[in-house]
Amino acid sequence: MVRDDKLIQMTKEEREAYFQENFFSDLALAIKEVANDSPFYRKLCEKANYQFEDELNYENLYHIPYIQTNHYKEHLGIFPQLTRVTEKEIKYRTISTSTSGSPSIVARTETDIKFLQTVTIDAYRDFLWWDTATWVFNFVPSKFMLKMVTRLSTKQKKAMMFVYFFNQPWESHLNNVYMITASLLRNLWHWIRHWTTESIIQLRTKKLIKTLQNRKEDDFIIFGGNTILIYNVAEKLFKEQGITFDLGKQGGVGTGGGGWDGIKGQLISKPFSKAEMVEQMKEVFGIPMENVHDIYAFTESPAIFPGHFSKKYQDQIMHVPPYVKIIVRDPETLEPVKPGEIGLLEVLTPYGINGYSSCAIIVDDLVQLIGDNDSVCNECGYKGARFIHKGRQSPPDGKSCSSILDFFERIH
Ligand SMILES: [Zn+2]
Repeated sequence: MVRDDKLIQMTKEEREAYFQENFFSDLALAIKEVANDSPFYRKLCEKANYQFEDELNYENLYHIPYIQTNHYKEHLGIFPQLTRVTEKEIKYRTISTSTSGSPSIVARTETDIKFLQTVTIDAYRDFLWWDTATWVFNFVPSKFMLKMVTRLSTKQKKAMMFVYFFNQPWESHLNNVYMITASLLRNLWHWIRHWTTESIIQLRTKKLIKTLQNRKEDDFIIFGGNTILIYNVAEKLFKEQGITFDLGKQGGVGTGGGGWDGIKGQLISKPFSKAEMVEQMKEVFGIPMENVHDIYAFTESPAIFPGHFSKKYQDQIMHVPPYVKIIVRDPETLEPVKPGEIGLLEVLTPYGINGYSSCAIIVDDLVQLIGDNDSVCNECGYKGARFIHKGRQSPPDGKSCSSILDFFERIH
């Protein structure tokens, strides 16, 4: 098995050829290693009487014992048993945005972070115009703000919001503008009194409008980050005030972090469909449907699933990258479902998990399987499985929370 620190040195093509060749044998080895390092996973394998097959293939993949994303939740206290390395080897404890008050705590080594960012750039290259874009307006908080939010979410050492590691690659690559910043001086008093995240949020919309007005013909502009923010900024700050642009094919959208049901962390808005998002981007920024893309990922895995809007499905089709295989399981029987059917998403990978135990992990998200692991997307030609994200299995926490911030009172 070639270790992750070697994989990140390879070119994208070399890496993908390597995954193609070695995925199953590397996974077989990784499962043994995780069971050796993690008492929790070892017990899971013992309980399932798992035989640690040397030869893995599509037929026996679904026998592999899997953990659940919930196992990393801080309040359960299992996460130390899912950590595979010593305190010294942990670079960051990556944490999730929490709607329930208990974030996931996932220990990652320096190599894990580097691997994550390498495959993130691979996905950006394939789906988010990494090689051609000139500006990214990132509707996510700056590093400083994320540090603040992290401190409010957990007392764990070395903690950092997972989302930061997706934003960071853009920083040195092109003109990256974090749209959510903290204006300390202006909000200091409110901040000290309430110590809440809402009091320090501001959006850099003036900069956005000015850049769009003064753009050069060959500038390529991406709107990235939080779906709810992008949609609502387009609605409240542009459409309702009669400000529109025609970026055409020189504009792109790369949303991430879900939020299609109107809830993400502490943000809430009216629900809107992915087709409505496409329409909004066309109407306000003149961005064509084929340039509206989405990224799906979750804190407890290194898997990045890039996607594009599909006219046929009127939804975002998410693609499974070459270092990952998926199984979609029936929520009742937990048996694998066939393409076209809906179930819970299980993600398998031997890579980027040196610090934690996610060689096989099931998410509490429902997806519709569109194509199997060995299929090819008939819309864009990307190899591998495809799915449509259908939302959480249970209603998201936070829906009834009275402290939910009505964010859009503040931005206009
Ligand atoms: Zn495709």
